[in-house]
Amino acid sequence: MKLDTKSLRYLNNADWKVLSAVESGSRNHEVVPTPLIVSIAKSSPGDVQRSISLLARSGLIAKLATAKYDGYRLTYGGLDYLALHGLEKSNVIYSVGNQIGVGKESDIFVVSDEKGEQKVLKIHRLGRVSFKKGVKNKRDYAKTRTQKERGAGSWMYMSRLAAMKEYAFMTALKEAGVEVPMPLGQNRHQIVMSLVDGFPLRQIEKIPDPAGLYAELIAIIVRLAHLGLIHGDFNEFNIMIKEIEKEDGEVSLLPVVIDFPQMVSIDHANAEYYFDRDVDCIKRYFSRRFGFVSDDQGPHFKEVRRAIAKDTGTKRLDAKVEASGFSKKMAKDLDAYMKEHNIDGDRAGEDDNRGSESDDDQSEDDSNNVVEDAEEPEIQDFKG
Ligand code: ADP
Ligand code: MG
Repeated sequence: MKLDTKSLRYLNNADWKVLSAVESGSRNHEVVPTPLIVSIAKSSPGDVQRSISLLARSGLIAKLATAKYDGYRLTYGGLDYLALHGLEKSNVIYSVGNQIGVGKESDIFVVSDEKGEQKVLKIHRLGRVSFKKGVKNKRDYAKTRTQKERGAGSWMYMSRLAAMKEYAFMTALKEAGVEVPMPLGQNRHQIVMSLVDGFPLRQIEKIPDPAGLYAELIAIIVRLAHLGLIHGDFNEFNIMIKEIEKEDGEVSLLPVVIDFPQMVSIDHANAEYYFDRDVDCIKRYFSRRFGFVSDDQGPHFKEVRRAIAKDTGTKRLDAKVEASGFSKKMAKDLDAYMKEHNIDGDRAGEDDNRGSESDDDQSEDDSNNVVEDAEEPEIQDFKG
């Protein structure tokens, strides 16, 4: 997805107010009527119209050709701007640099703060795939949408939930002492975290001690379970390997876990499936890539569950996450959406087109955005 930050510096306060007004109106209008934008922005119709023209020209809001009334809706670009603006105002980021990753449900960029320190910006984009694919196809714009499709089920809300969830889990895990990036900020569908100075396990050809790293990774899976959690997408793309040079000059490898939107509780109905799948994933990868096979068949969820029952010393993180504002209801909404749209982390990308490329219904709500997606990502600094 294109993240063109060059208009950021041209927007004045009045424009930001109008952009926010379109965002507010989008919560319950698929197309926000222009008079409503005027009333939310609390400015004169003339001023609002001027801002609307600029925002529309910059692709931050869009008109729906088939709408029966005059109005606009927020595009992913508009949401990006609002979030970047928020992160900039709270001094989390100062400029946006290169894109370092494109997932199906996210874009990853290197950003800098005011001191020039590099960080990572992850932009969650739920519901993007089908609207990329479904360019100008026979969409029924006149169709009445259920509340879920317009409101709680929309790409904007779901992307924000994914970001909130990831941020909440990263924070709780960091506090519990698990090696994860440092969470630095969250705004709408975007999170900022520290840059892990290393490579995904996937890119590492050889390791000195496969058995040692394997044991460490399995220990992380078990540790997470004792904290009440299952990663759910524990694979070679989501494990970053950092090289740590010890005093004697020897180098050791430190695994850092990333990517948390699909984490589940050990009380989840499918917990056993997810846990065992995470373990199998590591087993398979170590066998295939490093020729290492553990003598131990496990760990299996059933036996770990029994150990957890006896473990009274470890505090579970589920409650902590909920206290951070990511509620059970939000978790449920996101879970249902991800299930409905076949979103299952990175692993599906390995052997197929991840199952939902042709799922045209994935983002009913995004159909007017197609123009934005026509080009390759192009990254620019938005300041200095
Ligand atoms: P996705 O949900 O798209 O898989 P991830 O969070 O797994 O997103 O990030 C995708 C890729 O971006 C990772 O495989 C890694 O290469 C890179 N990446 C993500 N976060 C960081 C980070 N904090 N530091 C360094 N690289 C990162
Ligand atoms: Mg990933």
